[in-house]
Amino acid sequence: MNACTYSTMLGTYHDGELSAEDRSKVEAHLAHCPACAAELEHYVRLSGTFAAFEPPRIAPEALRRIANEPPVWVQRGYLRFVESLTGIAAAILLAASGWMIYQQRVAIPVATAPTSALSVAMNPEQLDTSDTRTPLPDWVDDLASQQRAE
Ligand SMILES: [Zn+2]
Repeated sequence: MNACTYSTMLGTYHDGELSAEDRSKVEAHLAHCPACAAELEHYVRLSGTFAAFEPPRIAPEALRRIANEPPVWVQRGYLRFVESLTGIAAAILLAASGWMIYQQRVAIPVATAPTSALSVAMNPEQLDTSDTRTPLPDWVDDLASQQRAE
């Protein structure tokens, strides 16, 4: 690349992408700028080299093998399915853990509860209704009243 201001247009000139006006400006400039003429000659030689390049031939057996191979998206499909299941399982585990932690904070502290809800449900006569410091859940009261009715 040379320091001439036209050098930035030489690539697009070579590719035939300049407007007619710019193309005639570049052609007028090329007549008296040896640096740009040399750079354009370089582009022409480089294009000739690429045009002469012949891509390597692939053996027919290799082409058949490639054609019979399942596409990459099928090969990766199973892996993506397993990955998404793993992600869903992790999300459920996190949500369940968070819910359990939340439930433990909301639950009646064991130290201040008069008796455990399960023991009251099993032996309703233990229920001390005069103690109103920490109310028992409604289902415990329901179970206790059902036990008393029997
Ligand atoms: Zn120039």
